[in-house]
Amino acid sequence: MKININTIPDEGLELREIKGRNWLPGALAGEAAWDFSLEEVIISCNIKKVDKTIFLRGAVETTVHTACSRCLETASLPVNATFRYTLVPTAMEGREEIELTAEDLEYGFYEGETVDCDPLIYEQIVLQIPMKALCREDCRGLCPRCGANLNLSPCSCPDREVDARLAVLKQLKRQ
Ligand SMILES: [Zn+2]
Ligand SMILES: [Zn+2]
Repeated sequence: MKININTIPDEGLELREIKGRNWLPGALAGEAAWDFSLEEVIISCNIKKVDKTIFLRGAVETTVHTACSRCLETASLPVNATFRYTLVPTAMEGREEIELTAEDLEYGFYEGETVDCDPLIYEQIVLQIPMKALCREDCRGLCPRCGANLNLSPCSCPDREVDARLAVLKQLKRQ
């Protein structure tokens, strides 16, 4: 979604776009490998221009697939986020004087006459992925001893905690 700022009418521009699975904005190609994949990404975006300042607001909807932090199976996480950005040209003078008006307002720059929304929207998706994704709330994870996926079936490893408690009891009996 690249927009020439000269084509934005006074009343603003309403855009809707669907990106294919595993979409990666051109500007981000060559970054370190991303450890997730995407379903189709549905983007709706409103773009306004006041003088040289660009106001973006929109919504992004997709599903992210990433590894569950407990069992390493695929965790599928629905993403439904809204975003706002205020962009000013890099060449604009006195930009340090511009103050943020709201905490949730993202602030950035664009170069020349073109605004590329894709990296910003992608960033919004990345922000929605939790540090410790779970395939489900009560994922049992992997057995630390044999590596079995405890969601599928319990393994036959002895429970260490119980062992430790039994050892203490045996000690007490001996005294
Ligand atoms: Zn899991
Ligand atoms: Zn086990």
